[in-house]
Amino acid sequence: MSRGLGIAFSIGTSVLWACGDDGPTVAGDGTGTTSSASTTGTTTQGADETASVGTSTTSGDGDGGSTTTGAPEAPLAFASGIRLTRLTANQGVQVDLVDEGLELPPSPDAARLISGRTTLLRAFWSLHADFTPRELIGRLEADYPDGTQLVQDFSLWVEGEGNDGGTSFQWLLQPHEVVPGIQYRVRLLDPDPTLATGQISDPPPILPLASRGTLSVYDAPLQLRVELVPVLHQFEGEECMPTITDQDVQDMREELEQCNAVQEAILTVGEPMPYLDPIGTSGTGFGPVLTALAERRAADDPPPNLYYYGLLAPCDGYPPGLLGQAIGIPPTPAMELAQQRIATGRWSGSGAAAAETFVHEIGHTQGRYHVLCSGGEAGADMAYPHPQGRIGVWGFGIHDFKLRSPTGSRDYMTYCSNEWVSDYGWEQTLDVIEVLTSWDAMSTTPGDGVLMGALHPDGTERWWTATGALPASLATPGAAIEVTHAGGVDPLPAWIYVRPDGDTVQIIAPRPASLPLATALHLRPPDRVAPLAIDPAAIHDHFAARARAGD
Ligand SMILES: [Zn+2]
Repeated sequence: MSRGLGIAFSIGTSVLWACGDDGPTVAGDGTGTTSSASTTGTTTQGADETASVGTSTTSGDGDGGSTTTGAPEAPLAFASGIRLTRLTANQGVQVDLVDEGLELPPSPDAARLISGRTTLLRAFWSLHADFTPRELIGRLEADYPDGTQLVQDFSLWVEGEGNDGGTSFQWLLQPHEVVPGIQYRVRLLDPDPTLATGQISDPPPILPLASRGTLSVYDAPLQLRVELVPVLHQFEGEECMPTITDQDVQDMREELEQCNAVQEAILTVGEPMPYLDPIGTSGTGFGPVLTALAERRAADDPPPNLYYYGLLAPCDGYPPGLLGQAIGIPPTPAMELAQQRIATGRWSGSGAAAAETFVHEIGHTQGRYHVLCSGGEAGADMAYPHPQGRIGVWGFGIHDFKLRSPTGSRDYMTYCSNEWVSDYGWEQTLDVIEVLTSWDAMSTTPGDGVLMGALHPDGTERWWTATGALPASLATPGAAIEVTHAGGVDPLPAWIYVRPDGDTVQIIAPRPASLPLATALHLRPPDRVAPLAIDPAAIHDHFAARARAGD
């Protein structure tokens, strides 16, 4: 039931310009091809890597057939002895644009590219027998709907064939350079014609062959908003809490952004949440502390699209084998289900160390079930299309510039290591992200309120109310909350489920209008399980408190 501990194990293949620290780089992968990136253009310096993309020039002439780099110079000839075959785009999961020279129509099965996000384009080739190893230029020309043109040159020493895990001609588009309606074409050129050998292929090395291709880009605001809540564990005379620096927040943000179809994730750090009960030694996993976070969210009543994520560094250690827990898997991105956007996980000393569990638990609250890999994943999504939880397509990190292989990496909803986003997971959450982003004007959650209950594995329970509503479709057949008052008994529908990654039973029902008058409450589970009495006086009514505050 628990989110298992994966063995720290990472095979990253860096793209050409990234000096990866834990994986083979492209140049040394044994394909016999070495490379050098042109540094005449944009150079981006990062903490751990240097990104160098080629000459990058924008002009206003809109003529797709001309180059526009500075002073007049002789146009370069097509490279000889080489044929371009394939072009891909990657914002996290790879999308094929051109195959065998032909532009591919947008496929309903493929992941969507989104606007405003770093995009890696890669081109692959085949060689003629008489090809002489030498440096070639890959030139990208991108024509924009506003009439401007982007030209990017990428220099590469070509010695053998390229492939997805090895060398490729690469162009990196910055977020502002990714908009709908881009028309693109790439070609290979010989910078020094005196070194060229053999014939120029027929057709020449250009993609797509027929004419410019159109980059299909899904254009919508896409953001994730998360409040990080450091849990202040006050236990046996000690105080234990993560110290969250700007770097930690950045590391968590970047991992979330890399694995989700967003333009940006916005992470804030909230006030510490005091918590007095045992955590690591409780025997109840993170159930009760997750309940406390849910009550914290109920009291705060933040915007309905804001996720709450508790960060834990307990004084009594972590529950064995448990990395994190989410309160639920909302089946639909309903505004009224704001109380489902709550999760928690291990801090493990840093934002970088906490990030992978963070992505997994937020994934649950986005509506994702587990993906089978280790076999320990309970409640798995049987529609997942790739065997053993593999990601299925090449992955690319927009912040770390590393490539992930389709078979060597696993979906982040598995319990296996080498976690990344699959094309399936990318698409599954994109629509949820779009819906939640559209609520940005909402400051509170609509609805008549919900009654929530948590039955923890140690026999303790907690009941509270919050804003929101229970969609009728989610009610568990045969289950009810019965409210007894002077006028009779009101039966209400109830949704009962076991929280993911844990054993806590969660109950959500409409907040009874008769709650202030209730003399008794009962939870009536389905399947003839004996009803459970709820003490009306023990319900923490955050909804009423908010209603009073609003008067
Ligand atoms: Zn999980």
